[in-house]
Amino acid sequence: SFPADAVPQAPEDALFGLARAFKADSSSDKVDLGIGAYRGDNAKPWVLPVVQKADEILRKNPELNHEYAPIAGLPEFTSKAAELILGADSSALKEKRTTSLQTISGTGAVHLGALFLAKFYKGTRTVYLSNPTWANHNQIFGNVNLKTAQYPYFSKQSNGLDFDGMKAAIRDAPERSIILLHPCAHNPTGVDPTMDQWKELATIMSQKKHFPFFDCAYQGFASGDLARDAAAIRYFIEQGFELLVCQSFAKNFGLYGERAGCFHFVTSAGPEATTTIQRIASQLAILQRSEISNPPLYGARIASIVLNDAKLFAEWEDNLRTMSGRIISMRKELRSKLESLGTPGTWNHITDQIGMFSFTGLSEAQVQKLRDEYHIYMTKNGRISMAGLNSRNIDHVARAIKKVVE
Ligand code: PMP
Repeated sequence: SFPADAVPQAPEDALFGLARAFKADSSSDKVDLGIGAYRGDNAKPWVLPVVQKADEILRKNPELNHEYAPIAGLPEFTSKAAELILGADSSALKEKRTTSLQTISGTGAVHLGALFLAKFYKGTRTVYLSNPTWANHNQIFGNVNLKTAQYPYFSKQSNGLDFDGMKAAIRDAPERSIILLHPCAHNPTGVDPTMDQWKELATIMSQKKHFPFFDCAYQGFASGDLARDAAAIRYFIEQGFELLVCQSFAKNFGLYGERAGCFHFVTSAGPEATTTIQRIASQLAILQRSEISNPPLYGARIASIVLNDAKLFAEWEDNLRTMSGRIISMRKELRSKLESLGTPGTWNHITDQIGMFSFTGLSEAQVQKLRDEYHIYMTKNGRISMAGLNSRNIDHVARAIKKVVE
């Protein structure tokens, strides 16, 4: 058996610790800005109306059973998921140089990508992550013994992108390094490169023969426009990169706990492309089989019903605009309230940033004070979830921020 000291006590996951502290707070003014999930203006989870419809369609199907999904998942789901992110007119799809597997949401896709690279990647086996990044990235790559390094990303001076630092680090990384990129709505900063900056990054990465690892958890949720949020990925594919894409349907379908996601590998064009992609697909199937055997059905069935029906798809786009629109309006309101209260500092970054999160620039001490004195909860790096703001609490939040920065 295990002696007590064989397994050290691990620290509690920071986000779950925050959620626990929030729950234990009995104040009626408490505000949860930690949660990484969409909330409506009533502070409640929102089941997308289109998801409700798809669910009803699903339940009425007399053929429905609980058999296993194929190892690579439901083909009607993965094929539409690929079109959604790569673009229905993607040359890579037409030339059959892609392979897609259904995964345990975005996390499962990142893990499958990490595992595949750990087993087969012959370049520089270091994964470059943005500083900061989604904290789970470090653990996922660590679990498969891939080294990680950081590239600068967030500028504390501007609360925007440190583009020079980012470019320099990617240029200085050894040739054929793995570069993890968030194609839209960067977590945790809400800061994205512009399209021109993506183009510059693609040029550098092509010169250095780096391997792009795209982790896309917010397509359509960021701008409300599915194509715009996938533009960076599509550009890199047009430039001829071999790359992989992790796709989560947690946020954009509100299917968080159902774990619907997809993994895509794209090879570059050429006479060997078809053979290469078939071989890659065969190895991915073995990895998937040994890790999870078959992916879960429910969330993928829901998403698949929507993705395969033009009318429901249009309704989904409308639901996406509802979510992104509410978040964008909360950004505008928070900024204008902070400015009209005369809060010290500049607050343009609140509206410049995009997606679920905003990096406020608040210090750890200010974050603590907001929690202790105003019952406002956020991660200690000053990240707030915009979805936690609503018409009932936004005044309280703006006034409290003013008080702690004064
Ligand atoms: N990558 C990033 C950058 C994320 O922000 C998230 C969600 N927090 C994920 C991946 C994966 O989320 P999920 O497994 O719930 O799809």
